[in-house]
Amino acid sequence: KNVAHLFTRDFRLGDNFALSQASELAQESEVPLISLFVYSEEDFRSHSVSPFQLRYRLKSLEIVKQDLKKKNIPLYTLNVDKKKDINSSILKFLKDYEISHLFANIEYEVDELRQFIDLTKSLLENKISFQPFHDTCVVKPGELATKSKGTQYAVFTPWYRAWVAYLESLDDPFPNYPQPEANSSTKGLEKLFESKIPEPKSDFYKLNAKSLEFFDKTWSVGEHNAEKQLLDYIKSKTIKLYDDLRNEISTDATSHMSRHLASGTVSSRTCIRLILENNLVSSLAKGPSGITEWIRQVSWRDFYKHVMANWPHICMFKPFQVEYDDIEWEYNLEHYQKWCEGKTGYPIVDAAMRQLNETGYLHNRPRMVVASFLSKHLLIDWRWGERYFLEHLIDGDFASNNGGWGFSSGVGVDPQPYFRIFNPWTQSEKFDKNGDYIREWVPELREIDDSKGIHNPYDHGFEDVAEKNDYPRPIVDHSFARERALERYRGE
Ligand code: FAD
Repeated sequence: KNVAHLFTRDFRLGDNFALSQASELAQESEVPLISLFVYSEEDFRSHSVSPFQLRYRLKSLEIVKQDLKKKNIPLYTLNVDKKKDINSSILKFLKDYEISHLFANIEYEVDELRQFIDLTKSLLENKISFQPFHDTCVVKPGELATKSKGTQYAVFTPWYRAWVAYLESLDDPFPNYPQPEANSSTKGLEKLFESKIPEPKSDFYKLNAKSLEFFDKTWSVGEHNAEKQLLDYIKSKTIKLYDDLRNEISTDATSHMSRHLASGTVSSRTCIRLILENNLVSSLAKGPSGITEWIRQVSWRDFYKHVMANWPHICMFKPFQVEYDDIEWEYNLEHYQKWCEGKTGYPIVDAAMRQLNETGYLHNRPRMVVASFLSKHLLIDWRWGERYFLEHLIDGDFASNNGGWGFSSGVGVDPQPYFRIFNPWTQSEKFDKNGDYIREWVPELREIDDSKGIHNPYDHGFEDVAEKNDYPRPIVDHSFARERALERYRGE
């Protein structure tokens, strides 16, 4: 009987908990290890996986396939059209190849958990063992509890302190799970090696030539590049300045590790273990402030996954703070469209939305600015923006995205209070001081060489430039929008 590993969002060989355990069992039992990936565009669409992210995953998987082949381990892609057929297709494959044990890393979103529960049931009925593993977080969800009530933390700072204390109490907090061992024989499995990584079929997932060219020029893929990028960043001078510069949009001070973390081409354990192994800090929270702040930022990813695992209602289109479920939103399609296209007349918002559309990436600060603008200035349901982000981000991750939207719109866990409404012009003046980011993404305003005018051309004497170049006037008045948001959030 054979052993299999099912890839979920863990497209790597190194430090992959389930894969290493599957290999261990296969070696002990002297049977081959087979690996499996399910390709279902209907499933990707239902989880709002973006075209850039799908390309990132498929290209990374190609590398996984080549590396596995060197170890004589096949990677088979199961092509499944209908999402509802995924589990029965997996079962059929396992039976066809006499697999007695299936290993996989857990994903904590409700739909993914349900799929695993159903899979466990059907595999049990067929006497196949299913072994799910906690791999994606540094600390697995459910491990940290408040001292007073023993429940999941709903505030980040005390949670973070508990996260640090817990990890520091362990003998081996960042284990490095070994790569799978090579198969000695794969007799009878030859056909599996012929399996190809699919090409996207539906129009939604087919990128045009310009996007393909941009992607290939910009986004390195796969586990080897992820680790190289990580090492370059954590040993760089830039990370030392992370604490001071991470909010400045035009300064490239952040790691850009998010696409790798979101698709599991690197593990969050490895991110922190490599910092410690290279003696870059003395402990998780002690050392150069840039590096300890970066670790803290990586922990936000864990925090949002813990919150999601404990309060699954956030996966079901409900805000974390359920009392904000009935805010009276403006369902203004024209405003929504202008936000999507980056034509709101607020330069910082427009720069960000155009960057998102073209590149699939945004710095954290503009993510917050546009999320706040949609939910508070335009009073459009934050869930529209949440989905739009996932459908465009290369690093889309449900928990972090939902957390970011909840924070910015004031309805999430440990949020920015609803009455703190970002002024887009002030945000822009503060975090894109010279206006370089705006000039890069809003060519209509490029010729404005004025530190105030670039952020708000219509109010600072650059009406002629903006009009000449067809740059729109603000689609909503800032003071009016602010008052309206306060009233609606208060339920007036
Ligand atoms: P760095 O600053 O170098 O941080 C290192 C890593 O820490 C990141 O790669 C990421 O994995 C994690 N991280 C950093 N900040 C956060 C945060 N606030 N929340 C959770 N994890 C964090 N991040 C995603 O990975 N996927 C998303 O879909 C996503 N959607 C967001 C939506 C909104 C509205 C907001 C405000 C934030 C969102 N973020 C999301 C968080 C954050 O903006 C990105 O992780 C970060 O900008 C990625 O750039 P980086 O890798 O250079 O980050």
